[in-house]
Amino acid sequence: MIKDILTNKCPHCGKGRIFNEANIYFNFSRPKMNEYCPNCGFNYQKEPGFFFGAMYVSYGLTVAQGIITYLIASTFFEEKFDLRIIGIIAGILLLLSSFNMRLSRILWIYLFKNYSR
Ligand SMILES: [Zn+2]
Repeated sequence: MIKDILTNKCPHCGKGRIFNEANIYFNFSRPKMNEYCPNCGFNYQKEPGFFFGAMYVSYGLTVAQGIITYLIASTFFEEKFDLRIIGIIAGILLLLSSFNMRLSRILWIYLFKNYSR
């Protein structure tokens, strides 16, 4: 299941793509999401505004990545709180933001997949 999430696969059949894009990691264009699974017809967005909640997932991901980045980056500096670390964190989070947007939606679909249909 984790592999299906990371490879952008349908939670119902594990074959169709959720985002109509081959690469969900280093892709900075606007996400192109399928409304229904192209393989089994599973409805990804079960109601209007369904993905509003995915923003909370995205927020959680961002905070976790910020903390991890800080822990890694701080080992390279003598000061515990060097201002350059903040720059590094901001840069990393900016790079990850489009990936987070996709991942949070995929996670959100997986969270509620059992309630659809
Ligand atoms: Zn499917």
